[in-house]
Formats: sequence, C-alpha cells, structure tokens
Amino acid sequence: MDTVYTIGMLNRQPFRIEGDKAYGLGISDDKQGVAVITHTVAMLQALKFKEYGTLTVLINGDEEISSPGSRALLTRLGGEHDAVMSFEGASIKDDKLSLATAGIASVTLNVTGKASHAGSAPELGVNALYELSHQILQMRDLSDPVTGLKMNWTISKSGSNRNVIPAAATAGADVRVLKVVDYDRIEQQVNERVKKQLIPEAKVELKFERRRPPLEATAASIALAKHAQQIYKDELGRPLGADDKAVGGGTDAAFASLKTKAPVVERFGLQGFGAHSADAEYVLVDSIEPRLYLATRMVMDIARGKTGGN
Ligand SMILES: [Zn+2]
Repeated sequence: MDTVYTIGMLNRQPFRIEGDKAYGLGISDDKQGVAVITHTVAMLQALKFKEYGTLTVLINGDEEISSPGSRALLTRLGGEHDAVMSFEGASIKDDKLSLATAGIASVTLNVTGKASHAGSAPELGVNALYELSHQILQMRDLSDPVTGLKMNWTISKSGSNRNVIPAAATAGADVRVLKVVDYDRIEQQVNERVKKQLIPEAKVELKFERRRPPLEATAASIALAKHAQQIYKDELGRPLGADDKAVGGGTDAAFASLKTKAPVVERFGLQGFGAHSADAEYVLVDSIEPRLYLATRMVMDIARGKTGGN
C-alpha cells in the first residue's frame, strides 16, 4: 500500500525498534495508518461496540500516484458518511490533526511543429522549441501570493538532434491551490493565455489535470477536531493541535470532501518521520496508544451523535 520504494529496499531498512522509535520502510507513510485503522476496528469489536450505522474502511493502493483509480470512489463514499477520518501520520514535533491541505494540479504543454534540416532548410521547418519557450514565458507570472496559488514550470523536453529543427516539444508545470475555486480561475487563465501563439503554424495542446483537490477547513471539520482535542485532554491528559493552514503536500481525504458538508479530518495516524527517505523512516512508539484510543473513541462518539457538526 502507498509506497514509493523499489523492490529490495526493505533489506537495507528492516523493521526494528530502537528506544521510542519503530523503524521500517514505509512505516510512517503509510503503514502506520493501515495498522491504526485495522487495530481500531479490532478494538471496537473487542468492546462489542455496534452503535454505528455503517463503518467503512477504505484503503487504496494508488495514493502515491495521486489516486487515479480511487478518486471517484473516495468522493462517493465521502458523500455517503456522517464523518471522514483519514490516517496520514502526524508530525513528531507537533501532535496535531490537519484540517486543510493544498490542492495539486499539473499543466502539460505539447507543441507539435515540423522537422527540417537546421543547416540547409530551416525555413521549411516549424520550430516547436521556439513556440514552447514563448508559451512558458507568457505563463510564468500566474502565481498569486494573496490566494496562495503557485504555478511553476518544472520540466521540459524538445528536439532529437542538434541539426534538426525540433518537431516536438513538451513542458510541465506544478500547480498548488488552497481553495477549489482557485482551480477554476487558474485553469481558465492558462487556457486563455495559450491561445496567443508565437508561431501560428505550430500545434499547441494544453492539458490541465487536477491531480488532488485542496482540503478546506469547514465549521464541521473544526467542530470534529475540537471533539478530538477534548477527548485527548480530558481522557488522556495530552494536548492535541488542529492545523487549519495548508502546508506542503496534498491528501486523498480532500477527494472525500468534494461532495459533502460532513467533516473530513486528516492526520489521525501516528506521529512519524522520514517519509520517502532511504534510511530513517520511523514512528514514535509513544504515539500508538493515544492515537489508537483517540480513533476508537471518535468512532464511538460520531456513531452516538456526540461530536456535533455532523
Ligand atoms: Zn508518500
């Protein structure tokens, strides 16, 4: 599930516990989440707790490639439930839940021109690299610090030989948004700008892909997080944060939030460190008990309608 590692890497990073840390490949991102979920369900069974209507466990294996196969299912199931708890890990520094994450999109530009001898007949060619360069430059200022929107061109490729006018050129940009409506705006802007070509004979195709929506904090998710914080404080005597500012990466939980007013809260998993690193991925052993307790108690209180906001 959800791994970026290649075959054989486990040999160099086997599971082991040293002090307060449990090391292992993918243990923080996201084996811990799978473990917390399955143990939470086992605890509910051991307690013979059956007061919920439907308790759905969804584990998808395509998260690291932006969930192309599970997006639609995540959105549908999110709309069918009173609350969604997602189990990405929490930070080792701050024991906190997450209410907001960035949306991540990609822009792909494909330019088709016409090859010709660069020395003897360049005028018979259509230089795809020139058109691509023009497009990149006229779409380099679309970031907007006010809304947190970021768009940066990061990859490009063109040409086959030095002495051939390039017939094809491609480029890709990384886009980050904090609100779903910002997707509409940036997509419209790039579709508008791309129409202005340097070389009319070149064929320019633009693809805007919303690879992951942003998760936005709502009154309902803030209320659900408050309930979790209360359980942590009253029953475990521990502080628990709830971050409503998006930082860095995206989350699959955002797909679950697209067609519902119900709360969607992220980072119910263990405190961990070192995702995607080759030698130091671990979870904090001390976070296992409180997080298992929290997840179990949350399911019980959501089922009993005690959490408000849903
Ligand atoms: Zn990951």
